[in-house]
Amino acid sequence: MISFVEKLKNFRRIVIKVGTSTLAYGESGKLNLYRIEHLVREIADLHNAGKEIIFVSSGAIAAGIGKMRLPAKPETIPENQALAAIGQGVLMHIYEKFFAEYGQTIGQILLTGENAADENARENFKNSLSAILKMGAIPVINENDAVATEEIKIGDNDNLSAMVAVTIKADLLIILTDIDGLYDKNPRKFPDAKLIHEVPEINPDVEKMAGGAGTKLGTGGMFTKIQAAKLSTANGIPLLILSGKEIGNIRRALNGESIGTFFREKNL
Ligand code: GLU
Repeated sequence: MISFVEKLKNFRRIVIKVGTSTLAYGESGKLNLYRIEHLVREIADLHNAGKEIIFVSSGAIAAGIGKMRLPAKPETIPENQALAAIGQGVLMHIYEKFFAEYGQTIGQILLTGENAADENARENFKNSLSAILKMGAIPVINENDAVATEEIKIGDNDNLSAMVAVTIKADLLIILTDIDGLYDKNPRKFPDAKLIHEVPEINPDVEKMAGGAGTKLGTGGMFTKIQAAKLSTANGIPLLILSGKEIGNIRRALNGESIGTFFREKNL
């Protein structure tokens, strides 16, 4: 069996998902421009190197909170929808600026659960995504939180990114988060927790390690990442969880450094 480190070097079509905790500061929701700029540069460089990148970005609601200088995330759905509408524009403005500086063109797609559930809608989305890629542009995807209600919400971008990866038949899904990968127990509680480098198969033990919870502004925590891993690996797409806090981690992993947690895909 080839090692996952060897496999990583050859992947071409890659979905990269970045979470709110990487993009924005703690509770203020203000954008972490240093991280965003370096991430954009890394993605632009991968694109220059001949990779096809599909970028799934959270952070709209946080950016809305930051822009409106709110003390915390509001409770009601309409308020969060409004913040998503405000923040999505803020996010895209920053992405447009940074990607343009590195010579790249981006195209925004906003999805709801309806697009994921309906085969026709999925086909439509796939065609649009393929056309953006064919034009040499980088798709930037988020959930359409401004119109998504509970019933039609995918709910978190981990699952959304896995859905995107499956639909576009990606070679690899990378999820950037605020932790180095999956630990055998919660590293915030247990200092002796060990990072798992490779998960050959998602079984109940692995699910137990994921626990619950996320951050105050983020959504999923490790739990939704395991759900995403189940969906992508079951469809033959491996998933790599990396820390988005350290600059350059995607490049390091794709160059063969053993960092993060790699979920091996099922052979179909
Ligand atoms: N779509 C949400 C946003 O942009 C984030 C969902 C998530 O954190 O997974 O704010």
